[in-house]
Amino acid sequence: MTTTVLIIVIAAAVVLLGGGAALVATRSRKQLPPATTRPIEPAPDQVAPVEDVGPDGPVEVDDTPAAVDTLERPEAPQGRLVRLRARLAKSQGSLGKGLLAVLGRSTLDDAAWEEIEDTLLAADVGVTATDELVTNLRTRLRVEGITDPEQAKAALRAELVRLVDPTLDRSLSATGAEGKPGVVLVVGVNGTGKTTTVGRLARVLVAEEKSTILGAADTFRAAAADQLQTWGERVGVPTVRGPEGGDPASVGFEAVQRGIADGADVVLVDTAGRLHTKSGLMDELGKVKRVIEKQAPVTEVLLVIDATTGQNGLTQARVFGEVVDVTGIVLTKLDGTAKGGIVIAVQRELGVPVKFVGLGEGADDLAPFDADEFVDALLS
Ligand code: GDP
Repeated sequence: MTTTVLIIVIAAAVVLLGGGAALVATRSRKQLPPATTRPIEPAPDQVAPVEDVGPDGPVEVDDTPAAVDTLERPEAPQGRLVRLRARLAKSQGSLGKGLLAVLGRSTLDDAAWEEIEDTLLAADVGVTATDELVTNLRTRLRVEGITDPEQAKAALRAELVRLVDPTLDRSLSATGAEGKPGVVLVVGVNGTGKTTTVGRLARVLVAEEKSTILGAADTFRAAAADQLQTWGERVGVPTVRGPEGGDPASVGFEAVQRGIADGADVVLVDTAGRLHTKSGLMDELGKVKRVIEKQAPVTEVLLVIDATTGQNGLTQARVFGEVVDVTGIVLTKLDGTAKGGIVIAVQRELGVPVKFVGLGEGADDLAPFDADEFVDALLS
């Protein structure tokens, strides 16, 4: 009898323990896989997990691993501006060639200087910068007694470089302090190429072997989070996203929290860019930044501007400059405009440097900006 009871007790214990182990196994299967810290060749179970941020914290929605051999290896950022210089074709034609044609003349009378002025203004260089360039170049040619067209071109190059300002620090501020990731907030009006830019920046960071997390805080545009997730998956970078119409600040918060937990180098946060009312925008962007900064300081606020929008782009720069502390500018679609002078105008408008330029629709067509290379490309 006692033996029978003992056998029953042991059998019950075995069943209970087995069930417990099965429960633990089920739970651990449901846990999120750790994010990759080696984005080029992550383990198959570490690729691009995606989280949904619900009211009760992140909820895993898809951690289907992408095959490692489908991961792309992005091009190194150095030298991209040189590779893409021909994409400035329209600006080269109207601004670069226009200026060189006038300076190539044997005499430069008032009409010639007026032509130079008109060319600069037509390329959206802006009134003050144009005045400055014409005055400086005129003085330089007179004081140095330059009459040779080649020397005049060299003087033009030097003045243009000075206007674009090679002394500005154009590096991406993506280094966090105290073991926390750098946090880059990307802002701008929808349609400017903001989400594309975040995806391309992720590729730049992956090429530099920096582990990266994406935050899809543009919860207002249905396709934005999917679009961003796809960019991330191509290079093994996880995306933290929220429900459509959800709170962008909470997505930003969760993304940075995930970045800290994973020991990521950088968290890139895409934001919604509705310019309906300035105060709405101010509240929303301000909140996203404030909430993120409960986790870690925002190291860079990049404003994306579509170069083809001209004056409109400058107005956007002004509005965003008033609502967030913009630290760098990304000028997209510079391949589609004759108005390359916007680089100069927008820097002056905001008093912050252009850090990247978009020169095409390819995945790696985002180039770190450089004053000398840009002017050389214009005048080539
Ligand atoms: P968002 O609404 O600001 O997030 O804009 P998207 O990232 O969806 O981009 C809008 C469109 O601009 C897409 O078709 C992009 O391919 C295109 N685009 C972005 N950057 C560039 C660029 O540098 N050159 C060109 N030609 N197209 C670009």
